[in-house]
Formats: sequence, C-alpha cells, structure tokens
Amino acid sequence: MENLDIHLIFPPQWSPFQPFLSTPALKAFLVERGFAVKQSDWNVEFYDYFISRQRLRVAIDRLDRYVKDLGPEHDSYRNQALLALGILSDFDRKSQQAKGLKSERCLRTIDEFYTAVTAFKRLLFAFSTAEPVVEVGTSSLSTSDVLSSIPSIDEFCSNPEINPFLSFFREKVRAVKSEPRYFGLSVIGQEQILAGLTLSRVLKEVFPDVPIVIGGSVFSRLVDKTNMISHFFKKYFDFVLRYEGESPLVELLECSDPFATPSSNLCLLKNGKLVKTKLAPQVTLEQIPVPDFSDLDLNSYYSPETVLPMLTTRGCYWDKCAFCYHGMIYGDRYRMLQPQTFAETIEELSEKYGVKHFALNDEAIPPKLFTHLPKTVAP
Ligand code: SF4
Repeated sequence: MENLDIHLIFPPQWSPFQPFLSTPALKAFLVERGFAVKQSDWNVEFYDYFISRQRLRVAIDRLDRYVKDLGPEHDSYRNQALLALGILSDFDRKSQQAKGLKSERCLRTIDEFYTAVTAFKRLLFAFSTAEPVVEVGTSSLSTSDVLSSIPSIDEFCSNPEINPFLSFFREKVRAVKSEPRYFGLSVIGQEQILAGLTLSRVLKEVFPDVPIVIGGSVFSRLVDKTNMISHFFKKYFDFVLRYEGESPLVELLECSDPFATPSSNLCLLKNGKLVKTKLAPQVTLEQIPVPDFSDLDLNSYYSPETVLPMLTTRGCYWDKCAFCYHGMIYGDRYRMLQPQTFAETIEELSEKYGVKHFALNDEAIPPKLFTHLPKTVAP
C-alpha cells in the first residue's frame, strides 16, 4: 500500500480522444515538491464502461420496453429505440470496430477509420437511447434539466436507475487500494458537474474520512452562488479549490488542519458559513514542470495514435471579449511559455512517451510563440 498524499481524478464527461492536462500538470508540480500523487482518468474509462457488454442486457430490456409501451405520441422516440435495438443486435461486431479506433491499424485505409468512428458513435447513440436521462456523445453530455434544481441533482446522484455514473464509480472506488490523505477532483466543464458530484458522493460512502477537494473553473465560478453551493459541502465534498491549483494544493498538503486554519484559494463551510480564503500568488509557467502522464494508460484513448495536450499560455493576451470567462480561472495575469521552453517540453514528452502528436489547448496563442520556435519543432 502506497502512502498517498492525494489521488487526483478526472471525471466524465470530456473528450475520449486524448487525456486532459489538468491532473498531469498538477501531478508534475506536486511530485517535484516531494508529494506522493496518483492520477486517474475515469472519463475515458467511463466511455469503455458505457458501451460495454456488461450494460448490454439492461439496455436491450429498456429499449424493448420503450418499443412496447410508448404510445403514438412518442412515435419518434419509439423509432429511435428500434434503431438502437438494431445496432445492439450487432453488438460484438460494432464493439470490435469501435475498439479499433484505439489502434493505429484503423489508419490503414479511410474506410477502416470511418468504420471505427461510426461504430463508436452508433454504440454511444444506442446506449444513450436506452438511458432515461443521460445522453453521451463523443464531445457532449446531455442530462435533460437535472442541473436546474438541487432536489433533482440530489435525486440524480443517488438513483442508479437514471444515473449510469453511479454503478461505474462504485466499481472504480471500491477497487481503490491505497487510501490517500485527500481526493482531488478536476471539474473543468459543465458536462462534468453531475458525474463529479456523483463521484464525490460515492467517495464519501466508501472513504468517509478522506476529505474531498473539488477544483477547476466550474466550481471556482459556482462559489459565488452561495445558497446553491452551501448545500454540497460535507454531503458531497469538503473544499472547493478556487482558480489555479498548483501552489494552493502544496499549501493544503502541507497544512496540518485545513478545517481549522484553511490554506489559500479554498472555499469551505465553517460554522455553517461559507468562507473563502485569500488567493495565493500565481506561479509563472516556467515554474511548472513538464506534465506527468506516467500513470495514465495512453493506449486507452479513442485515437489511433496518442495525442498529448499542451498549454503554452494561461489567460488571454486580448482579454476583451465581454462574453468570455476563459481567463477567469487564470486571474488577470497573462503568461506565456518561452518558445525555447515550449520546444524543450515537446521534445521531452515526445521522447518519454514516444508521441508525435500534440494538441494545443490554448484559446489564443500569440504568433510570436511560433515565429520564435527553434527549427527542430517549428511547424
Ligand atoms: S479567449 Fe478568445 S473569446 Fe476569450 S477574451 Fe480571449 S480572444 Fe476573446
């Protein structure tokens, strides 16, 4: 059994085509400072589970019921259920084809690639049609109007009949071997809220004494909705970590009793009141080490070749669009990696993981980053 300081988990739903950068970046920063960190991408594993044979019987039974019970006013959903049943009647072949998307063999011809992508999408469609609430796509998650009220969120997070995340997380959490000092959940998109809350409920069931920290842009924004967010403390999680996580997590892990003397960037419930602590100074990008993907299975993503995410900037150099909250998580300081550091990071990741493809996740990359790149990595 490892003595873990924190187990970082990335919950669904996000792209299943490549890892997300949040937990690899945090892990690298914390490990460099001597902490023991594990990370898990339960987003991509959920995709495997959602379209698995394990769920086939339940899906077919539900679809059969819809076809039998739905009246003429629901004709279009009935037809959709019939289509889904047709797809699931060919489950083994479709499943093999969809798994082919994880192998570079599917790039041999455009037809093979198209077959793999189509099978993956059709299985997601068929299993989603069987779900009463959740619809999972390759780049989306729809959950009807569950997020519209606290009672419907509570009901969703505890009802396995309407929540496919629940049985998945119960399996995953019960299989966790090392109890960490903290669990850290990275919720960076609205589509992750319900799965993130379901996961935190399951963690509380199985590990009631381990505090849960939930971080990322979504909850950094939600802390201003005081009435709503207060409901979730204790029952779902213990701390919201606001804005960037690197140095606030170091402070939290060094703190002997964060409930009594909370560290920076936290939001917590103390004596029934919501407390927000001061913000720590932001790190420079040069202080953040090369992301650590070492405990992720890079072959598990639905992509014929591994693609690693990169971020060359934090914030936006333009920062003037009134509708945009992209920069909010990064504070008001725009930071950019030096071209030389960017090139070295790509070279190191390429060598360590044998990767040729990188996805730049920035919203706005300044042209000078590319014009100053060393020739070895210049596009
Ligand atoms: S990230 Fe894009 S949309 Fe947002 S302020 Fe910058 S340029 Fe505008």
